[in-house]
Amino acid sequence: MIPSVLPTYNRAPLEFVKGEGAWLTTADGRRFLDLGSGIAVNALGHAHPALVEALTTQAQALWHVSNLYHIPQQQALADKLVEHTFADTVFFTNSGTEACELAVKMARKYFYDKGQPERVEIITFDGSFHGRSSAGIAAAGSEKMVKGFGPLLPGFVHLTFGDLDGVTNAISETTAAIMIEPVQGEGGIRPVPDAELKALRQICDEHGLLLILDEVQCGVGRTGKLFAHEWAGITPDIMMVAKGIGGGFPLGAVLATEDAASGMTAGTHGSTYGGNPLGCAVGCAVMDHVADPDFLAEVNRKAGLLRQKLEGLVADHPEVFEEVRGSGLMLGLKCKAVNADVVKAGYDNALITVPAADNVIRLLPPLTLTDEDIAEAVSRLEKTAAQVEAA
Ligand SMILES: *Cc1c(COP(=O)(O)O)cnc(C)c1O
Repeated sequence: MIPSVLPTYNRAPLEFVKGEGAWLTTADGRRFLDLGSGIAVNALGHAHPALVEALTTQAQALWHVSNLYHIPQQQALADKLVEHTFADTVFFTNSGTEACELAVKMARKYFYDKGQPERVEIITFDGSFHGRSSAGIAAAGSEKMVKGFGPLLPGFVHLTFGDLDGVTNAISETTAAIMIEPVQGEGGIRPVPDAELKALRQICDEHGLLLILDEVQCGVGRTGKLFAHEWAGITPDIMMVAKGIGGGFPLGAVLATEDAASGMTAGTHGSTYGGNPLGCAVGCAVMDHVADPDFLAEVNRKAGLLRQKLEGLVADHPEVFEEVRGSGLMLGLKCKAVNADVVKAGYDNALITVPAADNVIRLLPPLTLTDEDIAEAVSRLEKTAAQVEAA
């Protein structure tokens, strides 16, 4: 008999009832160290007082009115994002894949309005992940995601990750945009080198294409900059954001330059819930912390500390781990053992990590984790590695 919850997930036999900072508690009182943050979502950890305050204060005032009216919290969050990024304008969604939908629509409408309606194609890369909507799975294009769900949304060209020559060769009269994650998340924590992001920006400029960055996982302070592309010193035309921006409340956004967004006039796009008062009140509180240079400096300091200890861990356990990769507090341990076994052994040691493709386990801790949490994380990873070795 089918379970009452549609069984599209292979869930771990764990059930959490409470969270605080980087720690999660099960119903029977076990405390787990959370290096997953609900897949890079709980950027400020669990039950951060500022987020609880923002949510509960707003909940007592007003939950929902729809986008038929002005929403002051939405205006405030858009202003913050515009102030701190390349963007001139923002549309709010409830998830990352909805942001992907709009990014694709925006790019196509841009060229339609410029009298080039044939420019509809978007170049993407293998190992990428853009969510589970029709546009999202067509953009990523992996067999695992698209098989059985045809006919797929047309207009995506899939290239090998890192193949810059392939990009130049793939550009034609019908190309509209290049879409890429500055650090692939689901694909196994694969950072795009700065030089390559710079080259993609240049290729887009030369060919009049739009650069769409998917910072759903790597954005919002995760890499130690507010957004990951800042490391490469470039800016996109359109950027998808979600996960960390809501700190646990479902919230996403598309950020764009005035030019890239020029086709999106009244009536061309919408969302009933997107940018609702609850989500945006929380998003403002997240931004007030994460956009603070002192906060980002701390993320970088702690990332350096954690990374150094992880290098030692990998050196000590060559049968379990191959290398450390990633940027800031978006780290991956490429495994020699089976990554799912390592994640499972982590559970035995009350440690949460997240598997990814390419036989990687992801470490995406709350950006607020403490030095003591880092020491505890490394100690639990040591025990986990020893357990995998002994198995
Ligand atoms: C998680 C993710 C998405 C999809 O976000 P949802 O909120 O699950 O729809 C899109 N792109 C990237 C890079 C992601 O990590």
